Amino acid sequence: MSEEGLIGAVEAGGTKFVLALARRDGTILARVRIPTNTPEQTWPAMQSFFAESSAQHGPISAFGVASFGPIDIDPCSAAYGTFTTTPKPGWAGARFHDALGSFGAPIKVDTDVNGAAIGEWLEGAGQGCRTLAYTTIGTGIGTGVVHEGRSIMGISHFESGHIRPPHDRSRDAFEGICPFHGNCLEGLACGPAIEQRWGKSLDRLGPEEVDLVAGYIAHLASTLVLLHMPDRLIFGGGVMKAAGLIEAVREQTERALAGYVRHPRLDPGLERYIVTPGLGDDAGITGAIELGRQALLSR
Ligand code: ZN
Repeated sequence: MSEEGLIGAVEAGGTKFVLALARRDGTILARVRIPTNTPEQTWPAMQSFFAESSAQHGPISAFGVASFGPIDIDPCSAAYGTFTTTPKPGWAGARFHDALGSFGAPIKVDTDVNGAAIGEWLEGAGQGCRTLAYTTIGTGIGTGVVHEGRSIMGISHFESGHIRPPHDRSRDAFEGICPFHGNCLEGLACGPAIEQRWGKSLDRLGPEEVDLVAGYIAHLASTLVLLHMPDRLIFGGGVMKAAGLIEAVREQTERALAGYVRHPRLDPGLERYIVTPGLGDDAGITGAIELGRQALLSR
């Protein structure tokens, strides 16, 4: 192992930050969780962790950050690393570079979903894929598309959760909860939408409800196939833990594609094509370490 320095990794979530100091091979030397309060409280706690762990283990050469958002992830933007319109009190306008800049190391910032996608690509269920689409169905819905280890974006990160699936009101009268669109995918199928519609989470509901939600997710799955032709699709997040959901998503995606896309990657039944995550809770921090490696390479 070269002594070129260590990687500071940050997985920034809406309720907690996971911080790690790692070697470039991914070995974690120190790790801590701190609550996501306001930047005035969380930034100094983050700085102290990296200062103290670095004093013990060695200098930090790069930072990788996988964060909640919305956040500017365009390295060419003057506001790179800045929270934009986040409703989380105090965080709009806060910038990772202000908090980590004193270490004098390059910083790569990406979204939490893209970070988890990169983690799954590297060490989880997306290993061996050239192009991987990782979607989380939880409090919100988002997709990270990774191509050869790097997340892809346009003018901003993708917003797959706000695509509108077909909505048959005779079967599902619920209007949806998205403040912008009502019945977009997130408005109809995220965890809070399920709670509002039925008064309980999907893992406590029956096959009919699971099938309805699967139909909305399958609309996204088939859209991702047609738009990105990924080697594999991963679906994670709290909602996906409901019994029978991944199976129903496979079935309805296959039906939606109707035999049009033919490739050895798309096995009959899609059992190897549409999968659940391999890393669980470690995907985000694994991806953040990889983002730190990428920051080193692009320095
Ligand atoms: Zn929406």
